[in-house]
Amino acid sequence: MSNAPAPDADALRRRVRDFLAAHDPATTPPTEFLGARFDAGLAWVHFPEGDGGLGAPRALQQVVNEEFAAAEAPEPPAHAVIGLGMAAPTILAFGTEEQRRRYLRPLFSAEEIWCQLFSEPGAGSDLAAVATRAVHDPETDVWTVDGQKVWTSFAHMADFAILVARTDPDVPKHRGLSYFVLDIHDPGVEVRPLRQATGEAEFNEVFISGARIPDADRLGGVGEGWKVANTTLMNERVAIGGRAMPREGGMLAPVTAAWRERPELRTPGLQDDLLRLWVDTEAARLTGERLRQQLAVGAPGPEGSAVKLAFAVLNQRTTGLELELLGDEGLRYDDWTFRRPDGTGWNERAAGFRYLRAKGNSIEGGTSEVLRNIIAERVLGLPQEIRVDKDVPWKELPR
Ligand SMILES: Cc1cc2nc3c(=O)[nH]c(=O)nc-3n(C[C@H](O)[C@H](O)[C@H](O)COP(=O)(O)OP(=O)(O)OC[C@H]3O[C@@H](n4cnc5c(N)ncnc54)[C@H](O)[C@@H]3O)c2cc1C
Repeated sequence: MSNAPAPDADALRRRVRDFLAAHDPATTPPTEFLGARFDAGLAWVHFPEGDGGLGAPRALQQVVNEEFAAAEAPEPPAHAVIGLGMAAPTILAFGTEEQRRRYLRPLFSAEEIWCQLFSEPGAGSDLAAVATRAVHDPETDVWTVDGQKVWTSFAHMADFAILVARTDPDVPKHRGLSYFVLDIHDPGVEVRPLRQATGEAEFNEVFISGARIPDADRLGGVGEGWKVANTTLMNERVAIGGRAMPREGGMLAPVTAAWRERPELRTPGLQDDLLRLWVDTEAARLTGERLRQQLAVGAPGPEGSAVKLAFAVLNQRTTGLELELLGDEGLRYDDWTFRRPDGTGWNERAAGFRYLRAKGNSIEGGTSEVLRNIIAERVLGLPQEIRVDKDVPWKELPR
């Protein structure tokens, strides 16, 4: 790591332009382009040098993103979201130097895709209840993992998973977990599609039978999985709900486009609803912008739950309004083919697809009810829910 001062916005802009001059975004293959971008410290500017960053303030990432977007440079694909938004910040926070060097570059260049093996049939909101067991063999220094995970987005495209497993059933549930990186190609891992209301199978159920994880692929200490998982979850909420968006972007774009292009659909009532939605969406967008600027001085905290909550509420209101606006046409479903999507193209699909897919927004990354609990307890400081299972050994909990 050099002792040079972290660059400011102007220096970063120059750095990106020099990089673009040396790597033509139109002709350099995306993987090569992204790998070189990582090497130049322009992947995540707030990460340390050597880990894809420059040790710069986090807020300056926006400067870099704007420059690359203006040059229409290759970006990591949508299905790299779990690697980028969740695995990378966790590996940065808890990974050894060896782990950071091994995983971060191919994660950013999307040569390796990641998924998140957290939820189980009996552990979703109550993630600390996971029953998937990891047992350590001191002779081989390898963990053997058995269990079942569910709702695993993009597991069918993944190479690695971040995994939370129970390593000690004799202590209270939050204290008996550890956090691992699992090679999803291990013969003990079976990925099966789960078809959703949209007709697609974006997520999966994953059966783990005797999968092996070398101890070197543990992130954080044995028994510290809850702490590590919380870093992932805080980042997940910002990754899902706090993305930079242009005005009238995201799910609102097709609604305002239809409103402008098809005046015959307008009614005074719908105009009132659309204006309210427009203002609320803009307020949420600017709040997200403020959150990203606050992140300049640290990692995401419980405040990220608010942007994720607003994202879910607004997406469901927006897609509902779109169906109302389109009338009969909105009720016709465009395509119920069983597909394995790559996470892109929501706005190219018909309104019915967006309406159904947005239902998942208030479940994925923490349900809206659970996020309200987090905001109440950890942001507003209201009294905590009663938790009778906190000090009971996990194996003695009723199931
Ligand atoms: C599109 C999508 C993608 C997903 N991708 C992934 C993934 O890649 N990896 C992964 O691990 N998981 C993933 N999930 C799973 C997701 O994280 C869980 O579904 C979620 O945490 C809720 O858990 P659950 O489904 O078990 O519901 P439950 O936890 O059983 O909740 C049922 C209901 O009870 C409510 N509830 C539960 N606890 C409380 C409480 N304390 N207070 C008030 N209400 C409560 C909930 O809000 C919900 O309405 C995905 C889910 C969706 C929809």
